[in-house]
Amino acid sequence: MSKPKHQQISPSALFCRAIGIPPVASIEVEGDGHCCALCGLDLPNGTPANPAARRVDSATFNNRRDLASKMSPYICGDCEASWGDTYRNPPYSCSISTKDGLFPIFSRQDISWFLVNPPEPPFMMQFSNARMQPMIWRGMVTFDRNFIQIRIGEVPMTIRRPVLLKAYERNRLVTEAYAEWEHARRLEEHEEARRQLLQKAIEKADAKAARSGKKRGEVSVKEGKIPERLDPYRHVFKSLEYNMKATEPQALSHGIMMPRFEEFLRETGRTDDLELLNSLSVGEYWALGALLKQPLDSLTHPPSADRWIVLNEAKKAAKAAAAEGEVA
Ligand SMILES: [Zn+2]
Repeated sequence: MSKPKHQQISPSALFCRAIGIPPVASIEVEGDGHCCALCGLDLPNGTPANPAARRVDSATFNNRRDLASKMSPYICGDCEASWGDTYRNPPYSCSISTKDGLFPIFSRQDISWFLVNPPEPPFMMQFSNARMQPMIWRGMVTFDRNFIQIRIGEVPMTIRRPVLLKAYERNRLVTEAYAEWEHARRLEEHEEARRQLLQKAIEKADAKAARSGKKRGEVSVKEGKIPERLDPYRHVFKSLEYNMKATEPQALSHGIMMPRFEEFLRETGRTDDLELLNSLSVGEYWALGALLKQPLDSLTHPPSADRWIVLNEAKKAAKAAAAEGEVA
C-alpha cells in the first residue's frame, strides 16, 4: 500500500485533539503496511480503525484524487470521528487547530494575527471557500512557523513567513514612493503646460505689439489647478483575492502587478522590489491581502480567548462545576 513518507502527524488527529473529540473505531487493521486511505497515517497491524469503503466508495464522494491511498481498505479513528457534515462548515472549516484548541478564522484581522504570531507547531490552518467542503483529512500540517502550510478551498498553499513580512514592508515603501513620484510627475506636467501657455501668450502679445508699433506689456497666464498630493495605493497589484474562488474573473488578476507600478519600479531602478513583489506564492498574495486590511502595529493583542472552541468548552465545564458546587 503506497503512503506519503512526509506525513508525520495526521491533520485529523490535530483537529480532533484541538476540539477534544475521541477517535472512533469499529474494526482492527489486519496485516502490515496499511495506512489511512484519507490522511495517510500509518496503521500497523491491530490498530483500531474503520472500513474505508463506506466513506470513499459512496456515490457522493468526489474527492478520490485527494486520497492519501486510493487502495487502502482502512481509515483511521480520527478521520472517522471528524467525518460528519458539521465539520465541513464554519467554524470548523475556517480555522486553526493547535494544541490549545481550535480558533475560527473568518476575519482578515484574525488571520493576520496568526500569520504574524503563529502558534507553536504543529498546527493546521484551513480556510474553506464553499459549503460542505471536506477540509480536515485534506488538511495541511505546519511544522515550521516560518513555512506555513494552509489549505484554501481546493488548493494547498504555502506561505514563507519572512518573505510575506518583507513583501508587506516593501509594498508599503513602494506605494508611498510611487505616490511621491507620481505627484512630482504631475507637477512637472502642470508646469510644462503652463510654460507652453505663457509662451503662446507672449507670441500673441509680441505680434500685436509689432502691428501697433507699441511696446509689449507684461504677459501672464492663470496658474490653473495645481495637482494635489496623492494618497498612496493600498498595494501594487490588480487584486489580492480573499475567497480564492478560481471561477471568479478577478481571481485571474490575483497577485498581478499593476503596469503603472511595474513601470515605476523599472524607471526608478528598484529591481529588487520588482523581483520580490512579483515572485510571491499564490498563498503569500492571499496572506498579504489579509495583512493589508489593518496596520500591522495595531495587532497588539491576540484574538479574544473566549473565541477558542476548546477554551469555550473548558469555560462551560468550569461554570457547570461551579454551579454544582453551589447546589452542593
Ligand atoms: Zn486518517
